[in-house]
Amino acid sequence: MSLSPQAVRHLWAYSRAHFRSQRGASPIQQRRFGLHSFCKATAALVLTLALAPMLGSCTNRGTGAASTSPNDPENRPSVVATSTIIADLTQEIAGDEIVLTSILRPGDDPHVYEPVPADIKAVERADLVLYNGFNLEPALIRLMAAVGQDAPQIAVGEAADALEMDKAGQKQPDPHVWGDVRNAIAMVNAIRDALIEISPEDETLFISNAQTLNAQLNDLDTWVYRQIETIPKEKRLLVTTHDAFQYYAQAYELEMLGTLIGISTEEQPSAQTIQALVSEIKARQVPAIFAETTINPQLIQTVAAEAGVKLSPQALYSDSIGAVGSPGESYIKMIEANTKAIVEALGGRYQPFVASAAGAAGAK
Ligand SMILES: [Zn+2]
Repeated sequence: MSLSPQAVRHLWAYSRAHFRSQRGASPIQQRRFGLHSFCKATAALVLTLALAPMLGSCTNRGTGAASTSPNDPENRPSVVATSTIIADLTQEIAGDEIVLTSILRPGDDPHVYEPVPADIKAVERADLVLYNGFNLEPALIRLMAAVGQDAPQIAVGEAADALEMDKAGQKQPDPHVWGDVRNAIAMVNAIRDALIEISPEDETLFISNAQTLNAQLNDLDTWVYRQIETIPKEKRLLVTTHDAFQYYAQAYELEMLGTLIGISTEEQPSAQTIQALVSEIKARQVPAIFAETTINPQLIQTVAAEAGVKLSPQALYSDSIGAVGSPGESYIKMIEANTKAIVEALGGRYQPFVASAAGAAGAK
């Protein structure tokens, strides 16, 4: 069994787009990513060919026997979300009215995620693709450009105002917008509007669900602020593995003291970076520092040991919600879990989050 001509075309288009974007990179980026990216793209192609028999067994949407049941998956719009955070918010707004596919799974790192054949299929068949944007998920953004179908592709994270980060003299938007809960409200509104476009008959439901979710998010925003306020001012210092908490720190008045790596996890810290961070932690008497759920904690453990500070027992959920049953299994719970970890590690007094009547009314 072989790949459909369409899938092969998309795959080659994806590979070409990948190399085009590499050619457009700065000389330093080319040196850093050139061979590595070639290997990854080749590996993706080999993987696709290896999985071709499995792909061939998939049934294309609309090719089966006609069904008239509104609950039949064939009759509901197919929506693809790249990040787990966007998938969670989308599920809350759309309920059972769509068939939702989340490309990333809880714990996946969007910065380095490479698409698998099933992702190509999902994007090809989608009626709507919701992604973060600001280059959070570079390989998936390239894939979407390569597939280039008619379905709308909405950069949900770009509904928020970006913080500009200075990287080696170049300004680039920081993609981790959801750290400020008010940005999550902007994301909810963008998702709601995109869903209404593809399924206008469900407009009332989407508006009502988004309203309930936004009421909860409003409560959450106030709650986070109040929790962080309980930390003594001189201890409101955040040290994390990668630079994913600028929005959180700015919204809730913490100082981002330092990180091991920048806004993308593709970087590797130098010995000097580690040493400088250790010195800073010692000088400012930081009570504790934080690992992240999507990144190997080995290096940040080394920093904690070198600096003689505690590593928070709860790693922070940075770029993904947690698995079902974990403390961060939804967007709201991940913000709650992060806030609890930060407040407890830095010497504040934590009170559990309870949504007000408006937010709780529609809570499932
Ligand atoms: Zn990140």
